[in-house]
Amino acid sequence: MSNPITTAKQLEVQRIVDVLSKAIAQQRLRPGTRLVESQLVEALNANRNHVQVALQRLSMQRIVTIEPNRGAMVSQPTAKEAREVFIARRAIERAIVEGLAPACIRQNRQRIQTHLNGEREAAKSEDRRAIVRELSEFHLILGEISGNSVLSEILSNLMVRSSLIVALYQRADVSSCQCDEHQAIIDALEKGDNAHAVQLMQEHLDELERVLDLGDEAAGEINLRQVLSDL
Ligand SMILES: [Zn+2]
Repeated sequence: MSNPITTAKQLEVQRIVDVLSKAIAQQRLRPGTRLVESQLVEALNANRNHVQVALQRLSMQRIVTIEPNRGAMVSQPTAKEAREVFIARRAIERAIVEGLAPACIRQNRQRIQTHLNGEREAAKSEDRRAIVRELSEFHLILGEISGNSVLSEILSNLMVRSSLIVALYQRADVSSCQCDEHQAIIDALEKGDNAHAVQLMQEHLDELERVLDLGDEAAGEINLRQVLSDL
């Protein structure tokens, strides 16, 4: 028998984790933002202990960084971690796309279509937050409908971290509409051509990584001569 008090606490901690993850995924809270406990208690109408447990959980997921004596802040993934997140996404999303049968796409057709329409609307509106939310939602939907909760959970974590990475490293001049690439993946899946869908997903992820400015040199090592040469 589960203890009702423990369950209530778990639910409340999960609520706080979900709200903060969502705010970070949608770039309402940017990398490096201080997460002051007393402010979270007030803003989320939560108790301090629950907030602390939620922050610890987010820190284990690498979404929040807790520094001794300084408290918690939204994580700032390094360029190395960014590359690793993309390597992990290629592996996880390949597994998701490989397992999606045409029947599964047909069953979820309406949800997928509504979503793809939402992506196009967001792209037109040029509302950056809405664009970020819609574009990452596509990947999460594929994870959900795959029916594999382990892949889906890992992907949820990687998507929040991707959002931090995009906030930190995306080149300013990049237009972020990927609606057509998403549509092409769905078209291939609907035809049962999973090999092609996998290839399209890999190319899509390559492209997302390519528009990030992760630098070729080791993090922190800047070639001053090169940087200053044509000024
Ligand atoms: Zn995408």
